[in-house]
Amino acid sequence: MRGLAKYWGKPTTCTIVYRNGKWYASITVEVLDQVLKPEIFSIGAVGIDLGCNAALSITDGENHQQINAPKFLRNAEHLIKKASKDKRRKRAPNRKKKIKASRRFKKAQAKVSKLYRKVGNQRQDWVHQVAVEIVSGNSFIATEKLEVQNMTQKAKKGKRKKQKAGLNKSILDVGFGMLRSSIKYKAEQIGGIFIEVPTRQVKPSQTCPKCGHQHKKTLDIRVHNCNVCGYIQDRDIAAAEVMLYWAKGTLPGLGTNLVVAESSSTTSRTRKQAGSMKQLGAMKRQKSQSNFAKNKLEDVETSSDGVAS
Ligand SMILES: [Zn+2]
Repeated sequence: MRGLAKYWGKPTTCTIVYRNGKWYASITVEVLDQVLKPEIFSIGAVGIDLGCNAALSITDGENHQQINAPKFLRNAEHLIKKASKDKRRKRAPNRKKKIKASRRFKKAQAKVSKLYRKVGNQRQDWVHQVAVEIVSGNSFIATEKLEVQNMTQKAKKGKRKKQKAGLNKSILDVGFGMLRSSIKYKAEQIGGIFIEVPTRQVKPSQTCPKCGHQHKKTLDIRVHNCNVCGYIQDRDIAAAEVMLYWAKGTLPGLGTNLVVAESSSTTSRTRKQAGSMKQLGAMKRQKSQSNFAKNKLEDVETSSDGVAS
């Protein structure tokens, strides 16, 4: 352990693990609910689009920022390939033939897993840094409800198979799931609000943030160019703007806020996608902490009444 634990309380368990040639101690501590720290509470509001061109497209409506995906796995790929090849040349264990792994095999194997571990650590470090940076300036965060599993599903057949595999690799290399949950966790820790925008209802990448006009864009069109109001913006930034405005309830046109989205959904499946009950719970906790949250909560409450009746 290095430095001080962020939160400390009554230690309950300690698990010692030996993994990949290293010892780890995992300590569980019982702590009281974390209280909001006013000195780190910030009032910024942002929309975030997670994508493949830029890993993150962040906007507060006026300032935009894009963060590129680090290519940790890509960078280490040639080393991993080489180490794996070395490993294959050593005597592997074979239970049926009762052959034990050679010492050289074990050594080569340790080398491979060390490389993977390094990539994992790099990714985790990056994710935490990005999440801290976002949350340190903003306490209202709207982002897409992301389904990595769907996104990384293998292309079933055809020419796109290889292309999709490459895309999957970059999606997984960024660690979107990790990134999202880190941002969410850190936002909640400071008493902020994390809103999941129901993608299928709001269609962030197909909607104009300025006028609400919906126009279908294929994946290769990288610029949002509205043919109704003439707004031109990077595709991902525009999507982030749509999410931010939707979450704030200021998106023009259809699908303006939670009320509209909820009342338009009739099946339980779509309602589940909106994640409203979860959001409601999260917002109730934030109730006293900001007026922003209060307004939002009222919106949600009216919508849940509508569903019940
Ligand atoms: Zn427009």
